[in-house]
Amino acid sequence: MRYYMHCRACGAKFSSNIGVYKCPHCKGKLEIQYSILPKVSKPSDLRDDPKQGIWAFWRLLPVDNVSKAVSLGEGNTFLHRCDILARQIGFRQLLIKDEGKNPTGSFKDRNAAVSVSKAVELGARSVAIASDGNAGPAVAAYAAKAKLPCFVFMLTITAPEKVAQAAVFGARVINIEGPGLVNDCIDVIEALKEDFEWHHLTTAGPVNPYQLEGPKTIAYEIAIELENQFPDWIAVPAGGGGLIVALFKAFMELDQLGLLKHMPRFLCVQASGCAPIVEAFRQGTSVRRWRDPQSSVAIPILVPLPLEGEEVLQALHISQGAAVSITDEEILRAQRLLAEKEGVFASPAGVSAFAGAIKARRDGIIKKSDIVLVVVTETGLKELRQLSSLSQTAALPADPRLIREFLSRTGGGDN
Ligand SMILES: [Zn+2]
Repeated sequence: MRYYMHCRACGAKFSSNIGVYKCPHCKGKLEIQYSILPKVSKPSDLRDDPKQGIWAFWRLLPVDNVSKAVSLGEGNTFLHRCDILARQIGFRQLLIKDEGKNPTGSFKDRNAAVSVSKAVELGARSVAIASDGNAGPAVAAYAAKAKLPCFVFMLTITAPEKVAQAAVFGARVINIEGPGLVNDCIDVIEALKEDFEWHHLTTAGPVNPYQLEGPKTIAYEIAIELENQFPDWIAVPAGGGGLIVALFKAFMELDQLGLLKHMPRFLCVQASGCAPIVEAFRQGTSVRRWRDPQSSVAIPILVPLPLEGEEVLQALHISQGAAVSITDEEILRAQRLLAEKEGVFASPAGVSAFAGAIKARRDGIIKKSDIVLVVVTETGLKELRQLSSLSQTAALPADPRLIREFLSRTGGGDN
């Protein structure tokens, strides 16, 4: 077998064919390990080229029959070189990996492609997922393609566009009321999954270890594109922490393959009203449930009890990384800046790592000589409500003379 499952708690190893998502012996967290690694001498050898997007990296993905993988064209996202903002903020180089370019508009399509493909291989008849906004629509889309009934548990604070996006793919969306913890949705699915025969696909490694495998491909793509100049820092937002853990796993695999020039330092970014990982990093403690989480414009990263918090801390320590929290004001400023100066439109949560990178530069954590790569996790088109004021412009008559006067008066005549 090319890969196997390994229990982080009791050390048991077994084939993925037995169809479990947690250790059958101790209920511990499982991780996927690869016993046969591809023979490579440079990062581009990781690709098996006739295959598209993330599936070009099938040799490091836990799917048996890649020709039957469920795909909507995920992966291979654009890497922007942002020279204007690099100069303005004071980085040697600023690179933006735009995950908003995925089929449903977020990096979660990489997770869903792998987890739904695997669920199909394991004979799933139905899938369920807890979501703060992006994973739900992603799994709903891939489940639609795989003809699997899909149940998406969302919180009432979820952006309505994202609820609608999950529903349009035919998923059954169940809104969970209350103060708003995605952890509550996860518990509901765990309690009911056997009765309803759900494969639980929430994007957290402890719930579904296959979920960490898809986003690893972001790191492989970075390694191929930046082979000769790896970034010094990678800024990543953290809700549950899965994206940082997946990227760190991928860089460790690149190291095993002899392809890692140096380990980039991870910058973990959370919203200041709910920042349990940042707090634990600062205090040198383990990650504790955040009491009284405050709402934010970046709902997808509000996770009071990050299920992969300890693994994120480990990645930060090994990579000599750092953690910062940011306010809504900083997020919205970063959103406008990235759009106006570089033409990249990200949602508030999607742009949060960029806001964090700006803050880390201001605080002296990131230096002027550093190359910084920011993962933008979702497109701004997913949440347009925040920007409704921008569309409220007065209507004018179609009269060139009046329009000329208007533009001269309002400053537009200089262009
Ligand atoms: Zn175990």
